[in-house]
Amino acid sequence: MSNSNNGSCSTCVHFGDGVPSEQLVQIRIHGSNDNNVVGGCDHPSNAALHLRVTPLSSCDGYESLEAA
Ligand code: SF4
Repeated sequence: MSNSNNGSCSTCVHFGDGVPSEQLVQIRIHGSNDNNVVGGCDHPSNAALHLRVTPLSSCDGYESLEAA
């Protein structure tokens, strides 16, 4: 069941560092409401901060996977 909306980290091209690839694919397809899943964000504005986010997080740097 998907609980993620467009605009959340789950569908952002920058999300997923450290998340196992198979799990990341499932999150990208189905979304996730599991706040125990935490991955890195490689957006240039966030990477130096080593920001860690959940699939439900978001920020103004969102870039859709579909646009990539
Ligand atoms: S924090 Fe922002 S840039 Fe990073 S993955 Fe989430 S929406 Fe994308």
